[in-house]
Amino acid sequence: MIPYEPHSAEREIELASPRPAKGETTRVVVRRDTLVILSFNKQILSRGKDTYNGLKIPKTSSVNKEECESGKKLLHLQVRVLGATTQAPYDTLCRICKARVGDKDAFPDFRAKSNILVPQKNGRLLAAFTLACCSKHRQPEDLEYW
Ligand SMILES: [Zn+2]
Repeated sequence: MIPYEPHSAEREIELASPRPAKGETTRVVVRRDTLVILSFNKQILSRGKDTYNGLKIPKTSSVNKEECESGKKLLHLQVRVLGATTQAPYDTLCRICKARVGDKDAFPDFRAKSNILVPQKNGRLLAAFTLACCSKHRQPEDLEYW
């Protein structure tokens, strides 16, 4: 489970997928294979008088290629995952999941063609990733992620 904010779209960032279950307004269920998609309004690339070309995401194992950054002004996107109970930050899989998936142990693991995200035709930037380890695997046990 991760928290869901229904009005986040007004703040230039929105959880595009998954959507909350019927009747649920504050949480979404994220399984290990769920693709989590954050949608950013391209306005985030304009900060005061600065304009950026795109968002740079970490080159995790599911990001196909590392693009050349020269001449590009980029905002860096970082997704921090915390245990809702312990407040502990998690950036790798637990020992058991690591053994299951081998070297793809980035947490979260971004899914993209390249590590530089640029706006689509509709003006949105989409950042997709998976959380391939359950919060309940964590010791001490975390019931949810934040
Ligand atoms: Zn795990």
